[in-house]
Amino acid sequence: MASTGGNAVQEGPPEPQPALDAYLRAARSRHLAELCELIAIPSVGALPEHGPDMARAAAWIAARLDAIGCPEAAVCPTAGHPAVIGRWPAPPGAPTVLVYAHYDVQPADPLELWTTPPFAPEVRGGRLYGRGASDDKGNLLLPLRAIEALTSVEGGLPVGVTFLCEGEEEIGSPSLPALLSVQRERLRADVALSADGIMWSSELPSLLVGSKGLLALDVQVRCAAGDLHSGLHGGMAPNAAVALAHVLARLVAADGEILVEGFADDARPLSDAERAEVARAPFDARAYAAGIGASALVGEPGYTPLERNWHRPTLDVNGIWGGFQGEGAKTVIPAGAGAKITCRLACGQDPDRVAAAIERHVQASLPPGAEAEVVRQAGGSPAFEIDPGHPVLAAARGALRASYGFDPLLMRMGGTLPIAELLQRELGLDVVLLSWSMPDEGLHAPDEFVRLENLDRGARVYADLLHRLAAAGAASHPEAQG
Ligand SMILES: [Zn+2]
Repeated sequence: MASTGGNAVQEGPPEPQPALDAYLRAARSRHLAELCELIAIPSVGALPEHGPDMARAAAWIAARLDAIGCPEAAVCPTAGHPAVIGRWPAPPGAPTVLVYAHYDVQPADPLELWTTPPFAPEVRGGRLYGRGASDDKGNLLLPLRAIEALTSVEGGLPVGVTFLCEGEEEIGSPSLPALLSVQRERLRADVALSADGIMWSSELPSLLVGSKGLLALDVQVRCAAGDLHSGLHGGMAPNAAVALAHVLARLVAADGEILVEGFADDARPLSDAERAEVARAPFDARAYAAGIGASALVGEPGYTPLERNWHRPTLDVNGIWGGFQGEGAKTVIPAGAGAKITCRLACGQDPDRVAAAIERHVQASLPPGAEAEVVRQAGGSPAFEIDPGHPVLAAARGALRASYGFDPLLMRMGGTLPIAELLQRELGLDVVLLSWSMPDEGLHAPDEFVRLENLDRGARVYADLLHRLAAAGAASHPEAQG
């Protein structure tokens, strides 16, 4: 499907699907039990002692794919934790959808802050509690529930589906680029959906259409060959901690304005439509500030806080070191000091160019007697966004509109989604993130939960969406156009 010509996409309400709804209702408690089974496997990718659990979780998912009739399901070893790939070939003329998810979870500590143990899932008040309930095990099973229902009720799928589930998302997906490259043929698809993501709220459904890039740097300032006595050398020797403070104060102003020359030059300007979409999000800056315990918000002038978070590049100092850090006093003039800096990049920005601009600015800001080295950290990436006219976006909007009765919010995140950039780079696929994780569900924190009503809705929306993608694909596929 081309990324233009989305006018053939079904915009209206879905065909009533009483048989599908009945199937999902009947399977509801079994589906919940299955999710509990998966959550009970402590697939904490970051902790070496959970290696066997990673293999168990991957095998569990492959077995689930088998159970719902996947003709080609396999655990795929990687240099790290295994991935799982399942494929349903496309009916003639229909597109193939790649669905991404991850089965690994964050460590559960601090354990004492959990009401019930993290790997003993429990339902309380319409919510299922457990590590991974929301991120991402609850969501990863939604497309599989939809596929199971569609194949049972309709005898097959309207589109081809390639399900890709990795086990290293929470540790930065180190093996995924190689896996995508090696499995490129098996993973060939026309569009991609990610069942890992975030939704604005239960009341306001959303689709994630963009995320920021990331750039990480260390700034190291040096003023002398070694630390010096502040009495013997005071008033003469340059102080690296003071020099670093000067450098940092010249990167960002007190009000949050970024002072690095050329920093935001390549950032794509916000359109009026994008500003209007940001304004649709019910974001209360005052309540937000109170919520984080801050007395004021800072950032680039001329933009609302949420415009800055979604669209504008940011620069943060993540840590500072240098000199004496212990109890009491020590009369030292530090010879070296350093800071860690990360930038969240906007669309249009090239991490290399931004890094070069920061390095130039640091060098130009150094006080006399100080030298600086700016070291780029590995793992940076450019920002991601999907074409607003992309057919998969139109289909997902249609499916959410049909379910909720109004247009979903097209939201962005200030964070970074390497998977989106990776799928684009390695497989040429634009991804729409469709997940029912809500920001208040304790992702990566104690008492993580998922709302059961959202899982019910999510499975139905995925089923409707696969039909819409079939309709859109049939309209834009070359064979179908004859
Ligand atoms: Zn996740």
